[in-house]
Amino acid sequence: MDFALSDEHRMVQEMVRGFAQKEVAPIIKEYDRKQQMADFILPRMAELGILGICIPVRYGGQGMDYISLGLACEELEAVDSTLRVVMSVHMGLNSLALLQWGTESQKEKFLIPQARGDKIACFGLTEPGVGSDVAAMTSTARRVGDGYIINGEKMWISLATKSDHALVVARTDPEAPDPHDGLSAFIVEIDRVGVSTGDIHGKLGVRAGSTGWIAFQDVEVPRENRLGEEGEGFKIAMSCLDNGRYTVAAGATGLIRASLKASVEYANDRRAFGREIGKFQLVQQKIAHMVKSYEAAKLLYLRAGWMKNQGMRNTQETSLAKWFATDESFQAASEAIQIHGAYGYSDEYDVERYLRNAKGAIIYEGTSEIHQLMQAGYALEYRSDPQIRCELPAYDADDWQKSQ
Ligand SMILES: Cc1cc2nc3c(=O)[nH]c(=O)nc-3n(C[C@H](O)[C@H](O)[C@H](O)COP(=O)(O)OP(=O)(O)OC[C@H]3O[C@@H](n4cnc5c(N)ncnc54)[C@H](O)[C@@H]3O)c2cc1C
Repeated sequence: MDFALSDEHRMVQEMVRGFAQKEVAPIIKEYDRKQQMADFILPRMAELGILGICIPVRYGGQGMDYISLGLACEELEAVDSTLRVVMSVHMGLNSLALLQWGTESQKEKFLIPQARGDKIACFGLTEPGVGSDVAAMTSTARRVGDGYIINGEKMWISLATKSDHALVVARTDPEAPDPHDGLSAFIVEIDRVGVSTGDIHGKLGVRAGSTGWIAFQDVEVPRENRLGEEGEGFKIAMSCLDNGRYTVAAGATGLIRASLKASVEYANDRRAFGREIGKFQLVQQKIAHMVKSYEAAKLLYLRAGWMKNQGMRNTQETSLAKWFATDESFQAASEAIQIHGAYGYSDEYDVERYLRNAKGAIIYEGTSEIHQLMQAGYALEYRSDPQIRCELPAYDADDWQKSQ
């Protein structure tokens, strides 16, 4: 594994950092307070190519590698988690699934406009009564003629009201002896008759983002919209999470970095007992812990990104990167507030927003408890990752940058 970043990687970092720091940082507090997503975010991310960053050029993307995706997520979440959430759902949970499992005609129809940012995409797995226990979902897709009729509700869906396409998992075979085998995945256009969406308000964090619900009432979907084979829905959903979790891990690393930066600035400035508070060893201890968390989280996500580039299965490594970075980002944000004292407790400073945002990532894309079960399962050899029919394609610079 090569730890050096290429010129292209640095270019991505600079471009995304410029967007996040110059265009979003000055307005983010206002939108977080309003609990609203700024209208310019999605079109601007599309214009900059961020929404198709690691999709081959022939499918409308920028042809960069998976490490570039991670670096972009780190820069985005160093400003606000809502920016990285866009990448987690539009790219990690949806577009990469189309790249991995889609037919050529599905790539043509759905992936190309998504990679260009002409269409926005989300991911509907969670339901009002079902989260971690995916196989217990109740949404159904009943086969009728040459298509399906979908009924059910998906809840806590990021970008639900901003999206044109949703990757939805529903039950096609209620009789399957193993309920995991009874699920299938579909790409559903949100403007289909019977689809309705709404926003959820009153969230603790990601307030400058969009989280909502999608309801399906007798929604007719042609067979061409089914992603993968019938019965492959659970495997597809889990492969989506391998990509989504990678973006969450990289983003949480950026949040640790932001907490560290804010803490260092404040500790060098604030004085108590005749000296800067950074001179106190108990403050230094908190800062040292953030340095350790940042460096370790970064190595973990870069390893997962490198494995993706090689075409290696990375469920175990990505789960560890996500679990570690999200837990540590919550801890870093909490200690950053402590270092800021009373000012950290108000929204005059960014650190209280970091803490509120960090909590969400410990819940979505596998709660910390689920990742602990996974890691223990691998260590105890209760768990392994059998090969799937369609693995995420390895990165091939020449091929991915070809226009045809
Ligand atoms: C801001 C936000 C955005 C989201 N975006 C999306 C999205 O875009 N798409 C989508 O599909 N979903 C999304 N989600 C939903 C998210 O993925 C779920 O909340 C998550 O999977 C957990 O499910 P749950 O909330 O139903 O909790 P539950 O599964 O009901 O879990 C409740 C508690 O029980 C624990 N628990 C459950 N099972 C076990 C077990 N076996 N062992 C030990 N403890 C266990 C959990 O860890 C948790 O602490 C989002 C959630 C949030 C908060």
